[in-house]
Amino acid sequence: MTQLPELSSFRRIVVKVGSSLLVDQQKGAIKRDWLVALADDLADLHRRGADVMVVSSGSIALGRTVLKLPRGPLRLEDSQAAAAVGQIALARTWSEVLGDRNITAGQILVTFTDTEERRRYLNARETIGRLLDLRAVPVINENDTVATNEIRYGDNDRLGARVATMASADLLILLSDIDGLYTAPPHTNPDAKLLPVVPRITPEIEAMAGGAASEFSRGGMFTKIEAAKISTTGGCHMVIADGRVTNPIRRIQDGKPCTWFLSPSTPLTARKKWIAGSMEPRGTVHLDEGAARALMQGKSLLPAGVTRVEGLFARGDCVIIRGARGEELGRGLIGYDADQALQLVGRNSRDIESVLGAPGRAEMIHRDDMALAGD
Ligand code: GLU
Repeated sequence: MTQLPELSSFRRIVVKVGSSLLVDQQKGAIKRDWLVALADDLADLHRRGADVMVVSSGSIALGRTVLKLPRGPLRLEDSQAAAAVGQIALARTWSEVLGDRNITAGQILVTFTDTEERRRYLNARETIGRLLDLRAVPVINENDTVATNEIRYGDNDRLGARVATMASADLLILLSDIDGLYTAPPHTNPDAKLLPVVPRITPEIEAMAGGAASEFSRGGMFTKIEAAKISTTGGCHMVIADGRVTNPIRRIQDGKPCTWFLSPSTPLTARKKWIAGSMEPRGTVHLDEGAARALMQGKSLLPAGVTRVEGLFARGDCVIIRGARGEELGRGLIGYDADQALQLVGRNSRDIESVLGAPGRAEMIHRDDMALAGD
């Protein structure tokens, strides 16, 4: 039997909260008592030192009531309008309940391109990373007011998984209106059994996910399995757990039934594999001996150690890193566009502002954005 992970072993945790848990369907208002108990759970994780992120749905569900929109599926313009109204209330409530526990919340609204386009991806990753360094809790949702059908996630399960891998989280908790993945739909099949652990997502597992979403919340089991694929490939474990109970995270900690999807790697190794293997390099940076040595000791690449750059790359693109004799040392996501990188060659990080006319990041390539031979 596979050993199930302990909640206390995770250091960066994303908790995804669905609309149907957070918003009372009849009243169209936030279920405050439930949320307050969840905030206690989050504060427990935060107090023991974990980085905590929340991916919260609910803007459309809240806003549609305020705007008195009809029941049933909404037209795109109506869901955008509902999101605009509901997101204000959603963010305020999160900020209040976390603030009551001395935790600062920061709102981040992302679009599909923010997670999929590399330049924007790096920006979002850095903002999230900085908030976490400052011990704030990012509260994230899709920017539904500007997202259109062709370029949106539409469900926060997959969004949560992309955010988790983008932020190098090691656990994604999907709080749901079901306690996990069953071998068959449990409401129609009395023989359905809950799977406590899914070591690998096979076609059989995908077949079990079947069915679609309800009117009120977008994600069915299908999007949860998609989320599991994204997160486990990115080195992040995922757990689907019952969110309808009070203190749902404590319930996972207590070993109550839920479904764990295990990742074979860690966020760091998965990220390095992604950088090393799955991107077309757009350019090359050449280093001097000292910079090459510093990289091998685990340092970031500073402009001062760069002797030459080649290629038409943009910030976030993958570039080849070469040593003084032209040998390939590894690959990395570059922190500057080619024209800026050219100006920064050999310059001290102190001079970045005067060279570029605006403050920039100290690193040409950050250590976490590099995969070196032997990593
Ligand atoms: N982003 C949507 C909202 O806040 C929810 C998507 C979902 O339910 O997964 O209303």
